[in-house]
Amino acid sequence: MNEAYARMVLADTCRMLYDRNLTVSAGGNMSVRLDDEYILITPSGRNKGALAPEDMIVVSMDGEALGDAKPSIETGMHLGIYGNNPDAGAVVHCHPLNCIALTMKGRVRTDLTPEGVLLLGDVPTVGYMTPGTKELADAVAAHAASKAILLTRHGAVTVGRDLQQAFDRMEELEFQARLQMLVGRCRGLPKAEVEKLRGM
Ligand SMILES: [Zn+2]
Repeated sequence: MNEAYARMVLADTCRMLYDRNLTVSAGGNMSVRLDDEYILITPSGRNKGALAPEDMIVVSMDGEALGDAKPSIETGMHLGIYGNNPDAGAVVHCHPLNCIALTMKGRVRTDLTPEGVLLLGDVPTVGYMTPGTKELADAVAAHAASKAILLTRHGAVTVGRDLQQAFDRMEELEFQARLQMLVGRCRGLPKAEVEKLRGM
């Protein structure tokens, strides 16, 4: 992907995530694959609602940043997904309130509405691990083929062919979590209906 265009779309995506309350203050990090060798990722410790295209940082698949600015603390987690999923074109990590609340009480279900089944499928949850560690990056990379992954007491990661798809999956995941918080304990769609939707 053209770097100038990628910078613009990445900054737009960060602002949309922030405006939709999917992540707050400096929380979360977002990236897009430029080619086989490089990704573009958000800088460390900056508010996601106020990032400009020129703030984004090019990092090699080996983890080496070009330039002096410090890339996201979770760069290793993003690289782990790209390295293990050749179809991954973008990765979004946020700290959505309802998703985090549910990881502390149980799990996020995605079988409450047809969109949950169609857009997300089964979403694995990894246990709590210190942010920015190789331990967390490896645990997430093990689920690199999933559309979304939940991080206990921390947040969520979505993977997409592009930033729009990764954004849509994050928005849908938090919608499902919010719905679950509203209805409390309830039944999901019947198994036969879930299978039917999966086959579509
Ligand atoms: Zn985080």
